[in-house]
Amino acid sequence: MRTGLATGVLALLAVVTGCTKGPAGTAQVRERLVAAARAKGVRDGRVLAALAKVPREEFLPPDQRHHASDDRSLPIGRGQRITQPSLVALMTELLRIGPHDKVLEIGTGSGYQAAILAELTSNVYTIEIIPEFASAARDRLRRLGYAAVQIGTGDGYRGWPEHAPFDAIIVTCAPDHVPEPLKEQLREGGRMVIPVGPEDGPQTLHLLKKRQGKLTSTALIPVRFVPLVRPAALLSPRLRARQPAGRPELVDHAWVTTTQRYTHLGAEDLQAQVAGLPGTGAPL
Ligand code: SAH
Repeated sequence: MRTGLATGVLALLAVVTGCTKGPAGTAQVRERLVAAARAKGVRDGRVLAALAKVPREEFLPPDQRHHASDDRSLPIGRGQRITQPSLVALMTELLRIGPHDKVLEIGTGSGYQAAILAELTSNVYTIEIIPEFASAARDRLRRLGYAAVQIGTGDGYRGWPEHAPFDAIIVTCAPDHVPEPLKEQLREGGRMVIPVGPEDGPQTLHLLKKRQGKLTSTALIPVRFVPLVRPAALLSPRLRARQPAGRPELVDHAWVTTTQRYTHLGAEDLQAQVAGLPGTGAPL
């Protein structure tokens, strides 16, 4: 009797304090993330449903899992970061992905963004420059039921010409200009979301659209992403000389900077910012 009562009290406590493990815990993670995305102005029901379905904790290293429900970027190793969930949701919403659209992501990282995309279309392609990340993401996505996602290892600057054109392109690392191959590989009517800016300076999230063969670009919000890095072998001697001395280390065939970068939002209400910002609409 006493034991029964004690168990009952403990169970109640667990429910009240949210300390339960397993499905209930993960459902809470996802509810918090959906609430955070809503609070930032994301309204697309399909995107919010994707956020509610993908278990973010599965994409984090064990020592970061308890932060899974925090709406912020988190370290995933090698100086890289999983993007802030509300920003994942906003960038996905901006792409207006239809169920038959072919989507390319540059910067697979943990595979979280790719899983969100895979909830919206079965044609997801993603490229990662760090081979260990690519193979870990491949295993993880397969295990979680996202086996259809195609993961390539290499320099995403060059896009994935064999599978082009794409209806949507999302770049989750920041180059200092929009790569020409990505512009070319965007289908007529296609959308691209890309952070652009220097590694150490202000970056801006851009939305590009291709209409009648021409690209227009709208500057949206300030962001901070890890840099898009190029394999040293591909850099011209002039660019190679510009790699900051001592900081980048040569890992496999890729430059990986040792500095830690994080994604953050420059605004409280993303949608208000997006709506309120005058699009430059400037042809690139
Ligand atoms: N979208 C990821 C987070 C991105 S972190 C997620 O959901 O977890 C940025 C990623 O871009 C890192 O994994 C980094 O290795 C990768 N990256 C950097 N430069 C790249 C390049 N030239 N081509 C492909 N991936 C690149």
